[in-house]
Amino acid sequence: MLSLYLRKKCHSSFILIAIILLTSWSASSISMEFPNTFPKTWINGVDCAAEAKGQVHQYNENLFIIRQSVCTNFEAPFIYLLFGKNKVLMQDSGASDFGQRQIVDNIIKKWLIDNDLNTIELIVSHSHGHGDHVAGDSLFIDRPNTQVIGKDLDSVKRFFGFNHWPDGIYQLDLGGRRIDILPLPGHQDAHLALYDYETQILFTGDSLYPGRIYFKQENFVAFSKSLKKLYKYAQTKTVKHILGTHIEMTKQPGVDYPFTTKAHKNERKLQLTIQHLEQLVNWLPNAKLPVKKQVFDDFILYPTN
Ligand SMILES: [Zn+2]
Repeated sequence: MLSLYLRKKCHSSFILIAIILLTSWSASSISMEFPNTFPKTWINGVDCAAEAKGQVHQYNENLFIIRQSVCTNFEAPFIYLLFGKNKVLMQDSGASDFGQRQIVDNIIKKWLIDNDLNTIELIVSHSHGHGDHVAGDSLFIDRPNTQVIGKDLDSVKRFFGFNHWPDGIYQLDLGGRRIDILPLPGHQDAHLALYDYETQILFTGDSLYPGRIYFKQENFVAFSKSLKKLYKYAQTKTVKHILGTHIEMTKQPGVDYPFTTKAHKNERKLQLTIQHLEQLVNWLPNAKLPVKKQVFDDFILYPTN
């Protein structure tokens, strides 16, 4: 039927149909290339001789996720790179030198070519100031067109202009891409959460991830307030995923890897949902001081001291 129809049409119709077919093919191939998904598995330390020191996953055109190999450091944190037209925000710099300077330079170089741009400013920010998220800072200090924000609370307040910490939201404009930055003290005093309007992802650092959510007993009130505030904020947004900075849960509900485990066989996926944040916040009023360890299917509240 189609060939009969085409034969009857004039030459210009052929061209028009060809353009339509080509356009729809290329549009679908672009969305197929970066379909806003996560890898089936992350590098997990099961075969250290074979796995890379860092895994790069391109979530979409403007969001890259780097996983540090558990073979290089048991914390195996995640680093995020969010590109706008003028600035690229890097959340965290790794738990040790695993070659992240070169990895990030390569990602930026390729992104600039793909986007027909010559230069972009790199901002190195942190989910919080603990060593496993800032240890790579020194690798970026001398990088041209780069700002590394200090890990201490004063530096964070100064850079983002938080005058009423922990209140307020800083709106960071990366160039056509808006990121909301929220103070989230509790796990650590300079902890931040990010909400990315482009991907509708909420980045929660070490305050919510599939693993052990550590907090000191003395900071539980601050931790609770922060998580409640974050949930209230998140209810005003579409939250497609919640991404934290580690995986310490196995695929078996409620079962984590022992502390410092060097291989994560059958690791749970990275992404959480708004329901996990809701589950945590709904439990908070039940807490009695001193708070006891509380095991959920996909994360564990882990008081220390
Ligand atoms: Zn951490």
